[in-house]
Amino acid sequence: MRQRAPLYIGLVLADAKGDAMYAEIPQEIIPAVDPLTCVDNIYVISKFKVNPAKATYKPLDDVLGYITRYNSVTSITPKGKERASILREVFIKDMSDNELKITLWSDYAMNFTVDHLNTKENPKAVIALFVSFIPRKWHSRDIEDKPYLSASSGCHYYLNPDIKEALPFYNRFKDQPIYIERPPLSEAEVPMQPHDTPLQQKNIAELNSIDPYEFADEGYKCTVTVTNIADNNNWWYMSCKGCKKKMDPQLGGYKCPKCYATTPWPRYLLNFTAKDETGEASFFAYDEIAKLIVQKDHDLIINPLKLASGLPQPLRSIISKKFTFSVGLTEDSFTTRARRQYLVNHILDRSDRQNSALNIAASGKPAETVPAPATTSTQPPSSLYITHGPQPQQQVLQITHDNQSVC
Ligand SMILES: [Zn+2]
Repeated sequence: MRQRAPLYIGLVLADAKGDAMYAEIPQEIIPAVDPLTCVDNIYVISKFKVNPAKATYKPLDDVLGYITRYNSVTSITPKGKERASILREVFIKDMSDNELKITLWSDYAMNFTVDHLNTKENPKAVIALFVSFIPRKWHSRDIEDKPYLSASSGCHYYLNPDIKEALPFYNRFKDQPIYIERPPLSEAEVPMQPHDTPLQQKNIAELNSIDPYEFADEGYKCTVTVTNIADNNNWWYMSCKGCKKKMDPQLGGYKCPKCYATTPWPRYLLNFTAKDETGEASFFAYDEIAKLIVQKDHDLIINPLKLASGLPQPLRSIISKKFTFSVGLTEDSFTTRARRQYLVNHILDRSDRQNSALNIAASGKPAETVPAPATTSTQPPSSLYITHGPQPQQQVLQITHDNQSVC
């Protein structure tokens, strides 16, 4: 499997006082910076931009607990995507025995084991510190909105950390054996490969010929060039920040007809046309995907109090760009042929991305390649010596790239 250059590298940086912030290294300078970057080293970073926390920013959590069990790794492909991911679920409990699920991905998932610390013959408790994980909620019929933590790009975990916060756990389990349930060894020996599920490639003529009721559940992929976005203000709506319902304008503000909240939030409803060599069709993207297509959050390109006529520049700039979309059908497409519209589930490739396969196909010669960044071992240390402090080695990183898109 060809290794993709990451879009960015996420980092958690701490200063001498211990205050932490989240940072990203943009794709363009990863090859220069990545081999130098190592956890626990001290760096002087110059030429960077500080952005206010994004509206979509999720605070990261550190948690400490004792491990009770973990599952074998599994391969999952999100609906409408092609690329599968490997995940493993680890369960921990706090001092009050509240259970929390932690989701590990990729190498972290595959390398996770407590075999060296906990066996049937030596059933010693294993305390785990998970750092910079993203709190999420999972929806199930039995347990509504039960929270769990998912690995972020800058996360890390430590087993049996040497920190004072872990002392209550060590004291509690000093004489108390606990065997951690885990997948059988035979299962662990089988190297896990992600099972990608390639979508069928269709052109517009082929998509148009498919009966809505025979449209594949997972959808199809198609490569198209954006031709037009209707030049009116229908590409966004004022939604309720909490429940996403369209809000009614009231005297001096907005009110949600469903939950009566009064905090408005603009969201995309992006209708556009796109074509390939076989025809032109209508496409639609909800807010989450539209944001990725436009590459700008809505609040950065629209001021609802000062509506300008004409399309804002970030929207105009996607016209004539080429995308490979994973598509399904909108609900309206089932009612009449005239309202057939393709719902964009995901963006699989785009011509303005470095190393895009779309450019290679168009120009007949490969685009300039970027060397794959050196990968450092993802096997975390088995213990954390916070009391020892960071290593006294100092490196200077001169980031000479003046990139505006650092965010
Ligand atoms: Zn609402």
